[in-house]
Amino acid sequence: MNETRELIIIGGGPAGYTAALYAARANLSPLVIEGFAWGGQLMITSDVENYPGYADGILGPQMMQDFRRQSERFGAEFVTDDVTKVDFSEHPFRVSVGDTDYFSESVVVATGASARQLGLETERTLQGKGVSYCAVCDAAFFREKEVVVVGGGDSAMEEAIFLTKFANKVTLLHRRDEFRASQIMLDRAHANEKIEFVTPTVVDEVLAQDGQTAGVRIRDLNSEEIREIPAQGLFVAIGHDPNTKLFLDQLDHDKAGYLLTKPGSTETNVEGVFAAGDVVDHTYRQAVTAAGSGAMAALDAERWLAAREGHAATALAAPREG
Ligand code: NAP
Repeated sequence: MNETRELIIIGGGPAGYTAALYAARANLSPLVIEGFAWGGQLMITSDVENYPGYADGILGPQMMQDFRRQSERFGAEFVTDDVTKVDFSEHPFRVSVGDTDYFSESVVVATGASARQLGLETERTLQGKGVSYCAVCDAAFFREKEVVVVGGGDSAMEEAIFLTKFANKVTLLHRRDEFRASQIMLDRAHANEKIEFVTPTVVDEVLAQDGQTAGVRIRDLNSEEIREIPAQGLFVAIGHDPNTKLFLDQLDHDKAGYLLTKPGSTETNVEGVFAAGDVVDHTYRQAVTAAGSGAMAALDAERWLAAREGHAATALAAPREG
């Protein structure tokens, strides 16, 4: 494993596979350490209708297989395991998977973010069957239906308001009577007559009928009263966490742990280490934007490697002094 690669990509979602596609087509022979559960958030999504090129829509897991296969076609290689340690303090960089060390001239970090989950077993089994973590992606499937949104931040307000374009009724559940959301978003949600606020409540169970979400069992935290709300959709909007634990001591990041890149670039504070996709983006969080930034990271890495090689060649050609 002592061979030094030109590029290692950490992460197997839209950003990682697109970076791999661009890098493979640039003859960088990228190694993608894609994670044991490769595919990222798309693996818990059913139909994807907003990815350009798939005119008839596509299932999230199928789309990720297509992404992967396309980069493989040009020579990307994969390790289907989780990175356990990185060392960016020395060059070449070291990326470890358990006891195995991989060395690389450059690295693209594309480990994504994870939507926070309520942690209910019924929530997990109904993912993609009415339980969603992205209203922009899935709202259109709930035309003239009733849905529930959980959360008290700006995301929950934004998702609830967006869902009213499609659903007949949106019930917003939050565990406190106070909200983290900004006043303007809260006012907008309150002013929307399709949205009903039910607080302080928690979801105890997601209810199913014929394998699809049919409602939620909720508990009032003041009275402990339990009741059921019929709903064909449950949108969990309780925030996201970037998957950056491995990098926090080596790469600059914001308070929430999202990696910081130089303005107009995907390069991090460590030269030769680039970051792309949801690991840097808490605003857009779309497959198409992640893919776009994956392409940018591969182009940045390619240019950085070429400039470095140029320097190395110049150094070799230059007469030695002294
Ligand atoms: P957030 O501000 O962290 O809010 C998360 C919400 O989920 C909180 O109300 C929290 O309740 C609740 N929550 C967390 N864990 C929970 C659990 N296990 N069960 C039930 N409820 C739970 O996250 P966000 O709304 O995704 O926003 C993230 C950032 O993006 C914020 O800075 C936000 O302003 C920004 N953002 C801005 C916009 C916009 O301006 N248009 C849109 C979206 C997001 P507690 O309050 O009780 O902790």
